Amino acid sequence: MYLHRTRLIGKITSEKKSIYIITIIHLVMVGIVLLIAYLLLLGKIEENRKLCIYCIYGYILCSLCLIYFVHLQWSEYSSHTEEYFYTDELTHLPNVTAFIRDFEQYKNKDDIFFMKMILVETTNQNEINAVFGLSAVYEMQKEIAHYFQDLLKIQIKIYKIDLNALLILFPQNYLFDFSQTQKPKQIIKINDIPVYFEITCGECEYPQDGETALDLLQRASCAVQEAKNEHTIFYKYEHKQERSQRIVLLGQLQEAINSREIIFYYQPIIDVNGSITEMEALARWDHPQYGMLPPSSFINDLEQTGISSFMINYSLEYNLRNLRNLHRGGFKQKMAINISIMDLRQDHFSQMVLTHLDENDLKPSDLILEITERGFLAEDEKTNRNINELSQKGVFFHIDDFGVGFASFGNLRKNGIRSIKIDHSFIEDLSQNETNQALVDCLVKMAKKLGISTVAEGVESKESIEQLKKMGVDYLQGFAIARPMPFDELFDWMKQYQN
Ligand code: C2E
Ligand code: CA
Ligand code: CA
Repeated sequence: MYLHRTRLIGKITSEKKSIYIITIIHLVMVGIVLLIAYLLLLGKIEENRKLCIYCIYGYILCSLCLIYFVHLQWSEYSSHTEEYFYTDELTHLPNVTAFIRDFEQYKNKDDIFFMKMILVETTNQNEINAVFGLSAVYEMQKEIAHYFQDLLKIQIKIYKIDLNALLILFPQNYLFDFSQTQKPKQIIKINDIPVYFEITCGECEYPQDGETALDLLQRASCAVQEAKNEHTIFYKYEHKQERSQRIVLLGQLQEAINSREIIFYYQPIIDVNGSITEMEALARWDHPQYGMLPPSSFINDLEQTGISSFMINYSLEYNLRNLRNLHRGGFKQKMAINISIMDLRQDHFSQMVLTHLDENDLKPSDLILEITERGFLAEDEKTNRNINELSQKGVFFHIDDFGVGFASFGNLRKNGIRSIKIDHSFIEDLSQNETNQALVDCLVKMAKKLGISTVAEGVESKESIEQLKKMGVDYLQGFAIARPMPFDELFDWMKQYQN
């Protein structure tokens, strides 16, 4: 594949060389002819005057031929240079530089009102690469480009942006509706083997979503990300205020941890007899500008960055100190702390947890770590080692949001899982929703068979409490018992509740 590029460079170099040589020959000839003409004018050439004049005519003829030849070489040189700079060497599709050039050209036309583009990202190119090799990935890109050319049946331009991304540029002022298009069949043949490819598309529009080619590429890529978040194949870019705020917040997060703006509220969890068994620590950001922010505005972003390890260290330090104070005040409950999969992947996570417990004179069994199903799915060695080490010492694990993630019952066999927390979406409308009743009933029975207890979260009414008790749920958490509250209020609440 690289051969094509090498040949292209060879051609460009030799064309450039010929242009130089011809120009030099031409210049030398011009010099000689001028000299002859000069001598003729001065009358210094008496003999062979005619021959000299023929020479001059001959030269003019040669010169025309040379100019024509240079012209040919020049146009070849230009088209090869263009191919070199604006074409992807492996798929022969126009590249991102070509997109920027074309976009600038089109946008400067007078009759343009809008221009749509769609970024098509493949999501399984790594698997295809692993099985069939890189050439199959390029083959797939070419096939996808052909596929869209055939599907859309209009004059579109398709650019290769990246190893996993193509950009479709629609003609100016062309209204296109993706929902009206038939769904891609997503099968191509590589070496006669049918291969399934997954794509996600993000659409954006000039000038509504951006003025420059790079801005629009960024917007289309955001739309692709949004499509992935929403598990759909297609998403149209929307400017979200929230997105820019999230980026600003992410930048301030490290400082917020250092200056203790991140605080925790506590929500009690009770057993079926009504005794408080534990409380869950829920993060809040007491932001000087935006007020009290919920975890949804910063936790997910935080988990994507290196700040995650500071956060878990801070959370353990903050919450276990509060737990120690609670124990000293005569309340012997456990504390449930939310952790992320990134935390479990840390090398010395278990050691860090045990050190924090030790420093606060707490037993491992005073601590529950809550992790979503996704975390338990991760089968890497570090995660398993951390879970095993901690559960052997007596720390409990809860699987959070059970039922909405990538439920795999096999995960329930892992050591150290004390409870599953049935997601609030099954609990909130339990009394009216028969499907949810059946599901909760089934989950409770299954957990009982496996010797795992169940926590119902999002319990909002007295009726649900009764219904859940009848179904055999072991623990209850939700607004019907108490809302999450700051630590100072927790003391008073516990005292009042126990009386
Ligand atoms: P989660 O672990 O499922 O926490 C329960 C969420 O449900 C909390 O939302 C809580 O305020 C809310 N909730 C409790 N009772 C009810 C109820 O009766 N009805 C309704 N509708 N909601 C109820 P919150 O505090 O906004 O936390 C959201 C999520 O953020 C948590 O979900 C947890 O996954 C995550 N999170 C919170 N703190 C941390 C943290 O320190 N670290 C990590 N990694 N994640 C955290
Ligand atoms: Ca939780
Ligand atoms: Ca939950």
